Amino acid sequence: METPKNPTSVNHRIREGLSRVAMVMRADDWNRAKTSGLNPAQLAILELLEGRKDGLAVKEVATNLGVSQPTATDSIAALERKGLVAKRSAGTDKRGVNVGITSEGLSMLEAGRSSQSLAERTVDALAEHEQEDLLITLVKMIRHLQETDAIPIQRMCASCRYFAPFAHSDAAQPHHCNFVDAAFGQRDIRIDCREHETADPASRAATWDVFQQG
Ligand code: SF4
Repeated sequence: METPKNPTSVNHRIREGLSRVAMVMRADDWNRAKTSGLNPAQLAILELLEGRKDGLAVKEVATNLGVSQPTATDSIAALERKGLVAKRSAGTDKRGVNVGITSEGLSMLEAGRSSQSLAERTVDALAEHEQEDLLITLVKMIRHLQETDAIPIQRMCASCRYFAPFAHSDAAQPHHCNFVDAAFGQRDIRIDCREHETADPASRAATWDVFQQG
């Protein structure tokens, strides 16, 4: 039995905590999806496709959401029937077909964001420095998952070719984004940036070393 003198491992307790937060986020997703007449998987696909002008192949949708290809295909077909996504040719590959979000899909996402979710209110209740610490911890966890091939490369600053960590001596804005040519702070680090372009593995590793040591 777990007692203050005999606790379970910190790893176990962190996972218990994450699972409680994940439970609330799942409930948020169900509520938001229900309001839009979708299910959470369909909502997750719309959010994944938002800001990806070339769309994604079905296989990429499945990999990003951690579901099988047939499951992704079914959800995409349902969204297509509702006019929220559409097939389009995949960039320069004339034989390939990607799925992209339509203007109706974007409007539906926007409408669903009108009220704050329980998870958002919970993050708001944290102090600013706690929010920043949590953001950086999440970046580290996501980065570990992607570098061990558990998840695809995410559109985070940490893997972006435009990211120059700790390029400035200003403690409030130590990082530099070479895409917009501007300095930014720790709490502005992106998890899912539309302008992201994946750096090559050697650059990613070098950037990460600087970011970690900063
Ligand atoms: S383009 Fe986006 S992901 Fe890349 S460094 Fe700038 S803000 Fe970060």
